[in-house]
Amino acid sequence: MENLSIYIHIPFCVRKCLYCDFLSFSVCGKERLPAKEQSETSYVNRIGDKAFGEIESYVNLLRQEITRSAPEYKKYRVISIFFGGGTPSLLPAGALRAVLDSIRSGYRLADDVEITVEMNPDTVTEEKLEKYITSGVNRLSIGLQSADDAELARIGRVHDYGTFVRAYEMSRRAGFGNINIDVMAALPDQDIADYERTLRRVAALSPEHISAYSLTLEEHTPLFARQQEFRFPTDEEEREMYALTGKYLASLGYHRYEISNYARGGYECRHNKVYWQRGNYVGFGLGASSMVGNVRWSNPQAMERYRDYAGQIGRGPDCGTAAAVREKDADAFAVAHLSVPEQMEEFMFLGLRMMCGVSGQAFNAAFGVSLEEIYGELIGKLCAQRLLTREHDRVRLTERGIDVSNYVMAQFLFA
Ligand code: SF4
Repeated sequence: MENLSIYIHIPFCVRKCLYCDFLSFSVCGKERLPAKEQSETSYVNRIGDKAFGEIESYVNLLRQEITRSAPEYKKYRVISIFFGGGTPSLLPAGALRAVLDSIRSGYRLADDVEITVEMNPDTVTEEKLEKYITSGVNRLSIGLQSADDAELARIGRVHDYGTFVRAYEMSRRAGFGNINIDVMAALPDQDIADYERTLRRVAALSPEHISAYSLTLEEHTPLFARQQEFRFPTDEEEREMYALTGKYLASLGYHRYEISNYARGGYECRHNKVYWQRGNYVGFGLGASSMVGNVRWSNPQAMERYRDYAGQIGRGPDCGTAAAVREKDADAFAVAHLSVPEQMEEFMFLGLRMMCGVSGQAFNAAFGVSLEEIYGELIGKLCAQRLLTREHDRVRLTERGIDVSNYVMAQFLFA
């Protein structure tokens, strides 16, 4: 039986952060609340009936897609489920449980399936967390980004640090023993000392996992348009923040297992490793991406188109499978049957993100040809430049290679 991971996209947020270009819609549209109000009233209580109606109808579509797609995944065992977004913790707990029920009734789950919910600090309650636990959720990923309220305001987060700490402590009390905290470096007007303060405050809480990415200024976001108002860290400062993260977290017993991810022993994120190791994953929901059996595709990003798709699966005179529905409109779903060279490229540039690197033996098993034969010359050149290193069967990035990882990965493309 092959392994499969499931991603569930929840495209709703309290309000769009200023740097965000993810597929998500604001359901509150309110300005950031004063700290006092944040502590007294969760945003969950402020979402109007109309937004709840939208969320409810989206969850129904999602369940339809999940249930009708199930026959295609009979030969798979689900090893991880990840609710991402957006802000999945905006969902009423009953809705999240209903989605999990749909998965449980149509798919075979591993006994130790990892079930993660991404959560934003101001969207949870004790009752909701308790329901997550009874629904089988065993991992939380909390979006903090910064422990500095002024920095949070500059990037348009709806919560402050105090709200985050309350949500974190509430999650521990509810029984969660596996929590990730997201932090961000290279924020507007942030210096290295500011970033170090965030890191220290986060590490002091002792989460099992920390993700630390640098802010990327995406075009068409409000922050991009307003960038002149701020001083952004230079590339050198950003590299210093990165180096500080690795060194400081290592001193506390976290190991970096991927370029931007750090975990205590045994708490690496199983779901994300599936992406980097090219395992099979299916994404359900608006705009969700999938890669199963070396076929990649993405669901429609427009709600109407997604509704049509979910409605067509398993229906009509030919009772089309989800795959058949997508193949009929392959361009719209960006269906790509990966060629062997494309699979090799992905194997390298995704695998090298992991600090353990890529294994020659695994390459051979996947493609029936040696890593040396395909990439030997390139690997030799990159090793001579001290960007890669070889240890026994494995090839991995050096510290210097991590600093220019985009350049290194690009070398493995054939075109
Ligand atoms: S919470 Fe995440 S998905 Fe939602 S707007 Fe902010 S960055 Fe985007």
